Amino acid sequence: MRQDATARRRMDVPRVLAKMDRIFAEAGFEAYLVGGAVRDTLLGARASDYDIATNAEPQDVIRLFRRVIPTGIQHGTVTVLFMGHRIEVTTFRSESGYTDSRHPDAVSFRGDIEDDLSRRDFTMNAIAVSLKTGEIIDPFGGQGDIRRRLIRTVGSPYARFTEDALRPIRAIRFSACLGFDIDMPTLEAIPLSVPWIGQVSVERFRDELVKLLGAGEPSGALGLLENCGILRIFIPELAACRGVGQGDGRGFHQFDVLDHLYYSCDGAPRDNLNVRLAALFHDIAKPLTKKTRRKDGEDLVTFYNHERLGADMTLRILTRLRFPQKTARYAARLVGEHMFHYESSWSGGAVRRFLTRVTPEAVDDLFSLRLADVYGMTRRAPVLGGNPWSDTLVEFRDRIEGALARRDALSLKDLAVNGDDLIKAGIPPGRVLGEVLRSLFETILDDPAENTPEKLLPLGLNYYRKYQ
Ligand code: ATP
Ligand code: MG
Repeated sequence: MRQDATARRRMDVPRVLAKMDRIFAEAGFEAYLVGGAVRDTLLGARASDYDIATNAEPQDVIRLFRRVIPTGIQHGTVTVLFMGHRIEVTTFRSESGYTDSRHPDAVSFRGDIEDDLSRRDFTMNAIAVSLKTGEIIDPFGGQGDIRRRLIRTVGSPYARFTEDALRPIRAIRFSACLGFDIDMPTLEAIPLSVPWIGQVSVERFRDELVKLLGAGEPSGALGLLENCGILRIFIPELAACRGVGQGDGRGFHQFDVLDHLYYSCDGAPRDNLNVRLAALFHDIAKPLTKKTRRKDGEDLVTFYNHERLGADMTLRILTRLRFPQKTARYAARLVGEHMFHYESSWSGGAVRRFLTRVTPEAVDDLFSLRLADVYGMTRRAPVLGGNPWSDTLVEFRDRIEGALARRDALSLKDLAVNGDDLIKAGIPPGRVLGEVLRSLFETILDDPAENTPEKLLPLGLNYYRKYQ
């Protein structure tokens, strides 16, 4: 056990946890705040959620508290709903043997808080605070590592990583989210533990990836995942972008495709997972679509249709990583549209057609993605209005906002007449009616002033006569 003269001995216990402790104590149990909440409080950040370790067993906790969800009872974890909080309560464990690098072979609910801390992943996550006294229990020097901003395993890195191969991925994720370095022996053990990584379920990898993508700048951690050989296990399509140059003589691209994707990810808003995912995958099909031909003595590089193929690949990858279908489809849609091209000469109808296709809901995200893409080319934030390219983008934005503010019709349901109106006017239901509606919609996309029943009904009858 380490002694750290500068380490704190005590921490204020949040009121809700002090109240909870009274219930534990009256029944003769002890309880400790552990994990991320302790770490984040010591870092001066707000604790996101509370994890409690106790010698009470799940059945005791269920008896003591009114609202308890048995979230992971076989691992000794239940979730207690208490004073508006969701608090994870886990019984002290001392585990033995992990033959599959995932699940302990046997969990026994014996042991004390020090046993419990010794099975945690990193020293910064292996600090406990007594809910009764506020005393800090820090047997592995976690406070010193937090001060030095270091990620270090509890015990031998190789042994701990091969015991549960998610831990190396967590180390990399924490390095991005906390801005900590990984201690050298811990870092060196990561590539050595890669043979075990195949045993990590994709759901656990996905959860870490989501957290990693919420970091200020995910590029460093993504590079680490790649260099340690983890990226190619879970997302080989991304790893295949390494070394794919996109130099086209015009000097737009100083990075290869993979670095460009990493930096685009940095340039996307950190609180927008959809755009971060789209930024990470937007050029994923470039290796497959790259063509080089010589023209006028220069090499011309093209990636024809990479956005469409990229959308399909993104949907496939995110589905494989078990992202919700809604997320997978939406990110894929953004990828599919990221090459949108606008010119000042566009008519109002062209602007509205663009909006109809990408939907007003996706427009903000698509612009964020475009800005992220530009950031990913230079690692400098594009100054809107600062060059001819972004002047056009600003103009496009303004025209889109104008169309939305005027509430221009953007879908069939915005038409001033519907199918029933046309049926009443004498057009029989069926395929032709559908075609008439579509033609009316095309008309009002070109000229929103036509969107009144008085103008559309005669026009609709006219179309009907032509289509018959
Ligand atoms: P955050 O919630 O901010 O992502 P956290 O540290 O709370 O960070 P959780 O995944 O909520 O992370 O886990 C809570 C605690 O459980 C950790 O702090 C750590 O002590 C322990 N822990 C989680 N996963 C593992 C693991 N794979 N191996 C060992 N200990 C773990
Ligand atoms: Mg947590």
